[in-house]
Amino acid sequence: IELTSHEFPLPKIGEYRITLHSMEFKGRSIDEFSLVWWLFILWLIVSVYLLNRQRLVYISRNEVLKQVSNQDSLTQLLNRRGLGEYFSQIKKEKTSDDVVTLIYLDLDNFKRINDSYGHLAGDSVLIETCKRITHLVNECQKNKDCSEPAIGRISGDEFVLLLLNCKVRLIPDLSSKILEKIAEPIKTGNRLICDLNASLGVTQSSLANKSITFSDLLEQGDAAMYFAKQSGKNQYKFFDRQVQEKIMLKRKISTTLRYALNTHAFTLMYMPIYHIESLEVAGAEVLLRCTDPSMEGIGPDQFISVAEEFGMIKEIDLWVIEEVFRIIQSSGLCESNPDFRISVNISAEEMNDIHFPDVLAKLAQQYAVSPACIELEITETRLVDIDASNIDVLQRIRALGFRLALDDFGTGYTAFNQLYHYPVDQLKIDRSFINELHAGCKHAVMVDAILSIANSYQYETVAEGVETQDQLTLLREKGCDLVQGYFLSKPLKWVHFVELPGVKIYESSSSA
Ligand code: C2E
Ligand code: CA
Ligand code: CA
Repeated sequence: IELTSHEFPLPKIGEYRITLHSMEFKGRSIDEFSLVWWLFILWLIVSVYLLNRQRLVYISRNEVLKQVSNQDSLTQLLNRRGLGEYFSQIKKEKTSDDVVTLIYLDLDNFKRINDSYGHLAGDSVLIETCKRITHLVNECQKNKDCSEPAIGRISGDEFVLLLLNCKVRLIPDLSSKILEKIAEPIKTGNRLICDLNASLGVTQSSLANKSITFSDLLEQGDAAMYFAKQSGKNQYKFFDRQVQEKIMLKRKISTTLRYALNTHAFTLMYMPIYHIESLEVAGAEVLLRCTDPSMEGIGPDQFISVAEEFGMIKEIDLWVIEEVFRIIQSSGLCESNPDFRISVNISAEEMNDIHFPDVLAKLAQQYAVSPACIELEITETRLVDIDASNIDVLQRIRALGFRLALDDFGTGYTAFNQLYHYPVDQLKIDRSFINELHAGCKHAVMVDAILSIANSYQYETVAEGVETQDQLTLLREKGCDLVQGYFLSKPLKWVHFVELPGVKIYESSSSA
């Protein structure tokens, strides 16, 4: 309390005691009790005010945090967590008569757009996609074809729509509209992007099913979308029994592969490759088999893609390469047959690994294998999204002395004039062209085209999948260099391969 008074005598330095006998407020005297009472009221008001202010700040901060953690910052749509919370909420609030529909949307070729036009263009494509889907969903709601929609972006180019009570008969219509809308050209800056498409996976669940979770629904939608991609992209697929069985099989394969990797339950087969004129053995293609009993009947054509999807392919490729190098070293195959070439299939994922050439070089040195005797096969279809860094990896592999082959050639989308950019030595004409090859058929035209382009770029050619004498004769006439197929030999165990005429190895190493 600060007291001021002009009538106060000038204080000398010392101690003073001030006693208040009475106080007045606006002319009315206030007694001691009232003073305490008013002070108490004042304290109460200030305390309540401060507490309330603190609570409001806390609530609004929480709201902001919640919004941020549930929202995608680029499109302002919900994110995965936001969608999950939304689903839990409708599951709580809605009745068991309600049905929820999930549409899983993945843009096709988005990586290519990002790579060729830059990330800013990529971002505006995502924002435009978000606008287009939102517009369609709002229309759907306005027409009372569905209710309470929620839209989210769950990662890069993947969007998810949750719709309540969407009529089943309308889903094909809505899905087609989404596909059409996404395919409309997008203008970003002074560029027009015309090659954007999407693949959709659709799934539904009644809310009577109390055990269904958002992750279950998402997994079903994802599986159906994956099926749509595999069926040629730019389309929608429903989650059904067929998709479910595929998922179960994939899960089984991935678990077994993991186990097989830990227990080394793999073996290699060798498919002889012959010079087409002399039919002398020119080398072999190494083919992987999984020896785990539960993988009976499941070959690499099925399990390699699962290994890629579940992140095991690099480990598998490495195992194969090391095993091949070990066998070559211990048998002296390449020293005894200097012109032989052993072809090893590698996943296209290796092209994304800038360390892969170094790993190869180190292994070749460790096992004293000459790179010239190894040919690495990469499937042509996987070169669609190839970029400069992938080409660099291929060039470095080749600079080490390894040879490169484009496998299953003719099935991909490589424009023939693009081939020039790929540092490869050999084209392997896909089995599907050889299978039904006879003079004058459309496959013969394709084979002619491949052989002529190979000739002008000086690539060696291999025809794979030769099953008849006629096919062999025709390919010989057309001037293909090498040949492999069941007509000449099926894939062989190592012990049988080294018994073929003309295959020389060190004595005592045939059982490697
Ligand atoms: P690919 O590289 O095109 O291998 C040729 C496939 O065609 C082999 O099947 C082979 O057995 C089969 N084949 C060859 N000639 C004939 C024929 O005349 N008739 C018929 N009906 N089939 C023939 P396989 O061993 O099942 O391999 C399938 C695919 O799995 C391979 O296709 C390759 O892409 C992949 N693969 C195989 N081994 C490996 C591996 O070690 N690593 C990687 N990354 N992929 C592998
Ligand atoms: Ca191959
Ligand atoms: Ca092939």
